[in-house]
Amino acid sequence: MKEIIRLLENNKAWAAQVEIDNPGFFARLKRQQKPNYLWIGCSDSRVPANQITGLLPGDVFVHRNISNQVINTDMNLMCVLQYAVDVLRVKHIIVCGHYGCGGIEAVLKNTASGILEHWLESVRILQHEHRRITAGELCELNVVRQVDNLSHNTIVQKAWDRGRKLFIHGWIYSVSDGLIKDLKLTRKGTPLGRQECAPRRARTGDD
Ligand code: ZN
Repeated sequence: MKEIIRLLENNKAWAAQVEIDNPGFFARLKRQQKPNYLWIGCSDSRVPANQITGLLPGDVFVHRNISNQVINTDMNLMCVLQYAVDVLRVKHIIVCGHYGCGGIEAVLKNTASGILEHWLESVRILQHEHRRITAGELCELNVVRQVDNLSHNTIVQKAWDRGRKLFIHGWIYSVSDGLIKDLKLTRKGTPLGRQECAPRRARTGDD
């Protein structure tokens, strides 16, 4: 049980340090959350949204799943998305994948089984569409595909129809050096609402 007790002790020390660095921080945060960002990332323990972007509690609304999938019938993600867009009114949605993603590698090695195989179906389709692809390229293309899925989502499309300034970004993180690369897939609404922007194939810089 020592490893669990350590977490609770860490928490006390962390809360005290935050109050020292930002007096009144928790009292302000208690009143409301007003994050500017929605983060859709992988569940991988090496890719924590707040830490790798230097953000504090209250700054980013987070959804994570295996291989950062945007599946428009995923009720969990759809609830998060609707709340983030319509209630919290975030300005930016970031889809962040990462190199060395276990889900992507499982598809490439054909080792995904059970429910995970179903979950990663869109990655498998992507793999079939791009034969002779490296793991790094598939990690990047997965981000491209999820950004595309998100830009066609009705919650996002309706927000753009209403003239909302809502940006979707595609990033990829390298667990080997801690750096994020912007894949330059950014999409936004136009004054006329809905927009389309052909996704371009991203180049691999880290595999
Ligand atoms: Zn992953």
